[in-house]
Amino acid sequence: MADDPTRQLEERARAARAEFDAAVSAATDAAALQALRDRFVGRKAGLVTALMKDLGQLPAEARKAAGASLNALKQAIEGALEERQAALAAGEREARLQAERVDVTLPGRPIPQGGRHPLTTVREDLEDIFVAMGYEVYDGPEVEDDYHCFEALNMPADHPARDMQDTFYLEGPGGLLLRTHTSATQIRYMVENERPPEVRIICPGKVYRRDDDITHSPMFQQIEGLVVGKGITLGDLKGTIEVFLHRLFGPQYPVRFRHSYFPYTEPSVEADLGCINCGGSGCRICKQTGWLEILGSGMVNPAVFEAVNRRLGRNAYDPEQVTGFAFGLGIDRVAMLRYGIDHIRLLYQSDLRFLEQFPR
Ligand SMILES: [Zn+2]
Repeated sequence: MADDPTRQLEERARAARAEFDAAVSAATDAAALQALRDRFVGRKAGLVTALMKDLGQLPAEARKAAGASLNALKQAIEGALEERQAALAAGEREARLQAERVDVTLPGRPIPQGGRHPLTTVREDLEDIFVAMGYEVYDGPEVEDDYHCFEALNMPADHPARDMQDTFYLEGPGGLLLRTHTSATQIRYMVENERPPEVRIICPGKVYRRDDDITHSPMFQQIEGLVVGKGITLGDLKGTIEVFLHRLFGPQYPVRFRHSYFPYTEPSVEADLGCINCGGSGCRICKQTGWLEILGSGMVNPAVFEAVNRRLGRNAYDPEQVTGFAFGLGIDRVAMLRYGIDHIRLLYQSDLRFLEQFPR
């Protein structure tokens, strides 16, 4: 019986089938499947292929049935390989879908948002206070000429006050320079606008001076105000400054006025605020005086109106008819006081570690 070639072939076919069945379910990728294909149904060395070649050794009457049986085996193996390949592909696809799954209920990733610079916050707060008092916010150029920055403000070329306001000069004709104060913009407002001689403006913006120390920067920011009209008095100036400082810092701080000197105002007064750090007992911030120098101001010098009239060629701001007051303060100074910043340069270094400490 063991020598019966038909039985032997059947035996080998069964063994091949069993081996294939065990291997196919263990195959987990395309390479393993290809190896099985080569081993069982490959044209050169496939086990089933070899069995088919051996059909010729069978007695003629057994060949047909054995051949049909081997063909069925070959087809079954090929079918199983294809099925297995399809199952693996489906599994891979499912795994990829799982991996790429988007959970739409997860919270979004926040996009980093910038904040307002502390100087911008302070400038807008200052503007809000004055706008609420009926002032117009007026912008002017940072590059100015001598007339608007000095001459019209009663600082002719040889005036000693110019030494305190030395600035940066542009090359070329026209004597252009970087403005040392936004008072230049107040002159522009009066010269460039055909208006009745009534003015109520604030001019915020960057100004430049040849200064550089712990509280002075070559560029800093100012806000200056100008009020012109009939019957404007020093009392109006004092009342305005008091209301402004109390709205800015709080009504609990006293305000005092000291006489001072500016070429463009007469009389000139400086306003001090009771120290917001020590409440008046004396500290490092107020240099032990209990007071903070906060603002310069005064009644507009008639010489300023006359300079504007000369430029206009008519008596638009008649010093016999109109009076006015002006004031100015540093936005940087207010920011440093409000936030306890001890070096002005911090405001201009764009260091995120510094800037992130401020409310957005
Ligand atoms: Zn103090």
